[in-house]
Amino acid sequence: MSEARLFMNFINGEFVPSLGGKTFERRNPADTADVVGIFQDSNADDVEAAVTAAKAAYATWRKVPAPRRGEILLRAADLLLARKDRYSHDLTREMGKPLFEAGGDIVEAIGMAQYAGSEGRRMHGVTTPSELPNKFQMSMRQPIGVIGMITPWNFPMAIASWKMLPALVCGNTVVIKPGEDASISTFNLVECLVEAGLPPGVVNIVTGHGPSAGQPLVEHPDVPVLSFTGSTEVGRLVYELGARQIKRVSLEMGGKNPLIVMDDADLDLVEQGVVWAAFGTTGQRCTATSRVIVHRKVAAALIERLVGRAQALRVGNGLHPATDMGPLVNEAQLERVLGYIEVGKSEGATLRCGGNRLTEGSYANGWFVQPTIFTGVRPTMRIAREEIFGPVLSVIEVESLDEALAVANDVAYGLSSSIYTRDINAAYRAMHELEAGIVYINAPTIGAEIHLPFGGVKATGNGHREAGPTMLDVFSEWKSVYVDYSGSLQRAQIDNAD
Ligand code: NAD
Repeated sequence: MSEARLFMNFINGEFVPSLGGKTFERRNPADTADVVGIFQDSNADDVEAAVTAAKAAYATWRKVPAPRRGEILLRAADLLLARKDRYSHDLTREMGKPLFEAGGDIVEAIGMAQYAGSEGRRMHGVTTPSELPNKFQMSMRQPIGVIGMITPWNFPMAIASWKMLPALVCGNTVVIKPGEDASISTFNLVECLVEAGLPPGVVNIVTGHGPSAGQPLVEHPDVPVLSFTGSTEVGRLVYELGARQIKRVSLEMGGKNPLIVMDDADLDLVEQGVVWAAFGTTGQRCTATSRVIVHRKVAAALIERLVGRAQALRVGNGLHPATDMGPLVNEAQLERVLGYIEVGKSEGATLRCGGNRLTEGSYANGWFVQPTIFTGVRPTMRIAREEIFGPVLSVIEVESLDEALAVANDVAYGLSSSIYTRDINAAYRAMHELEAGIVYINAPTIGAEIHLPFGGVKATGNGHREAGPTMLDVFSEWKSVYVDYSGSLQRAQIDNAD
């Protein structure tokens, strides 16, 4: 077991204690005897100091040429790669996912550092011909100012990188409030950026809880853009508070992701994909498969396979190499998941495997629950509609592709989705008709890559996309520039109207 480290806030390039003098501790969810870190329990005064630093740094950072800003990100990518094992260990210890998955979180940040870093040499605008002679016109991206970022705990390195790195290459400065259950990974990311040459004040970290540290950031008048990932409930509040000051607010929120299995699907492939996407990260991915919508003809065969696989998963401490599935992130999450298992039973779904907390032996000090599968689930049941965010899979049987698509779309959320079929027509129909920001064909609902847009529709998002070429849109303002070199007044839409 490693030592608990004391983490200060990071403001203006310095590590400083919270002005309120309070701290909180974070314990390893696989072993609550292991205190992984002590963090500043920040308040509005700390946020004020961080925003002041970020605002001052913006005056110079925005003028650093974008290719130079990008070079810092590229150097940070190399540092992240060199430290991948250490940072993966920190990440597993703070939020529980197995080491091999934690490594994926770091690799996403490396990919984003490379992608956003190289964007420093592109950041394309548009030039167009003018409708008037001797006139030139173009558009260009400009930074906006201090960006307030609020992140969850489930991808603590990747999500921080998706927000921070595009914002920085655009020339903004940042105040980030990481998820209180996994703040270390944000410090690790920023450590690499600072060693790569990021000037003081350009990124500031304020740790703490949502209402006391997050909300002052949301409400701060000198923070014109908010980038939030988390639950729909908190996202709605962030949106409302931001709207009062006409802020730009980017929201990435919950999911209830469907995976459709048609009667011609390759069940070997389905079996592997479903188990990975439903129980990977203990089901705590916004893109986790939580509903399998299966054609009745193959339902019985598939269910038998899924139950066998789920029961064979090795649940344990993510630091042990043999572990397939780690614990839930905290006690509240455990209570929530166990609560939904009771809801499923009381609604009349059939509990086919799992359903219990694990408490014996090495499980005694952690938030472990068995991989759980309900069958006979009807689309109207709460377990088929509400985000559980745990290793609980609902299997819903349908008679046709039409019915499968209708059931898939009949929820409030719309993040990721999937269909397994060998019928190209069915695949294309699903691609077009699934109400989701992401569709997979013959692959499960998880596995997004950073160079395509990421985000969802309906209650999952508010129209923005992280990652991909769209990633700059949230963090930059378009400016159109017209250069008239005719030496005379040319009136657009009037002088050239005939
Ligand atoms: P959460 O909404 O409880 O917390 C998210 C962040 O908001 C945390 O940093 C928290 O401290 C902060 N917060 C809480 N109350 C606040 C307030 N009043 N003002 C400002 N900030 C506040 O979510 P969570 O439990 O950390 O994460 C799980 C949720 O995140 C799930 O719903 C999941 O689907 C979602 N998620 C979505 C995506 C996506 O890209 N769509 C990715 C990962 C997670």
